Amino acid sequence: MVETTPAAGVVIVGAGQAGGDLTGALRVQGYTGPVTLIGDEPYPPYRRPPLSKAFLSGEATLESLYLRSAESYARQQIDCRFGIGVERIERNRNAVRLYDGSLVPYQHLVLATGGRARRLSLPGANHANVHYIRSIEDILKLKGQMLPGKRLLIVGGGYVGLEAASIGIKKGLDVTLIESLDRVLARVTAPELSAFYEKAHRARGVKILTGTGVHALEGDPLVDVVVLSDGRRLAADLIVVGIGMIPNTELADTAQLKVLNGIVVDAFTRTEDPAIYAIGDCSNHENVFLARRLRLESVPNAAEQARVCAAVICGKPQPYGAVPWFWSDQYDLKLQMVGLSEGYDELVIRGDMDKESFSAFYLRKGILISADAVNRPQDFMLAKRMVTDRTPVTAAQLRDEGTSLKSLAAQPKPA
Ligand SMILES: Cc1cc2nc3c(=O)[nH]c(=O)nc-3n(C[C@H](O)[C@H](O)[C@H](O)COP(=O)(O)OP(=O)(O)OC[C@H]3O[C@@H](n4cnc5c(N)ncnc54)[C@H](O)[C@@H]3O)c2cc1C
Repeated sequence: MVETTPAAGVVIVGAGQAGGDLTGALRVQGYTGPVTLIGDEPYPPYRRPPLSKAFLSGEATLESLYLRSAESYARQQIDCRFGIGVERIERNRNAVRLYDGSLVPYQHLVLATGGRARRLSLPGANHANVHYIRSIEDILKLKGQMLPGKRLLIVGGGYVGLEAASIGIKKGLDVTLIESLDRVLARVTAPELSAFYEKAHRARGVKILTGTGVHALEGDPLVDVVVLSDGRRLAADLIVVGIGMIPNTELADTAQLKVLNGIVVDAFTRTEDPAIYAIGDCSNHENVFLARRLRLESVPNAAEQARVCAAVICGKPQPYGAVPWFWSDQYDLKLQMVGLSEGYDELVIRGDMDKESFSAFYLRKGILISADAVNRPQDFMLAKRMVTDRTPVTAAQLRDEGTSLKSLAAQPKPA
């Protein structure tokens, strides 16, 4: 067994968006001690959003995915170990054990382990033409099979599935998307937005089947027929599964840290062990703005939690209270969302859905709590301010394009 004992400092497990951002945030906030970044993928930290967008379509290069250059980690004296995983946390020694047997001690340990694609648990789900979209490797495998004329079946009508459908159409494939709920994007948006997206995809050639799931995959060594739960049989050349992700919480679990749909942390990214933190997709965290805990899967969340964690480690703690936001690109439709819409009591559409340029505003008791802007970046920016400021507005003001959102956003904040 290899025993190594570099100086303890900050050890980050997971070299993804959150882990990569944390290295920069620590140095920016003045941390001068040793920082070790350990990731099991053979790449420096990279952005995942282009995996189902420009990288899948071939418009983005591999290098353009990287958060920053390999040299910049060296310049900031970040000890990078890519292509090697952490097997376990040894809390009694304040150290992590890597799969090569070596031991890396820590003063502060940050778990930034993200998640993995949820897989279909059916015979045939591991055949070479059944794909998932979570990593660079996934896309390198999928891209080669996305050839014009091929029959692509997408399982799951969430953002990843819909983005993959739009790339499939762009590349000339025959695309069918199935969603087990009665509408696409059901978990994240209002029925009006789901209807808009279904219409937009159908208009561009996607066949969408809702209210039905996958019952069986037939064919060997490749799947060639997908049997749906309603009995229909669909021929397919390749299948893309986008049914969500599972947070990577095993390290925390076996170290007896609290896990409940993610690693449980407070608003300062701290677990119950004062030396251990969790950030990004793997964390179930407290948000002081929303006054609740949640687990988010988004780049802004990963970046913000990295900043909060760095501040705590640098002795300048500030709680996490950012308003969540997210985006999705499908065809020429740029969707930007802010806030959480659950519990809304009024939905207002501003603009023209038929012209594919509009915003949906979600109100609760006369306060803007969330917005979805389609091809309206200015609305998004102003809505972000209004949601953050809890601006009181009326449905009539929001609906009326003659009333500028800028003037509504400029209203004094309620006390
Ligand atoms: C296809 C796709 C499209 C997306 N599109 C958008 C978008 O449009 N907008 C948006 O805001 N967000 C989007 N997201 C979500 C966003 O990419 C994630 O929220 C973000 O990557 C989370 O960062 P993270 O660092 O927490 O996790 P990750 O980026 O998943 O990084 C975690 C890393 O830790 C590694 N790891 C896990 N366990 C270990 C271990 N034991 N030892 C060592 N390393 C380990 C993993 O392999 C991985 O490399 C998208 C995600 C996907 C998959």
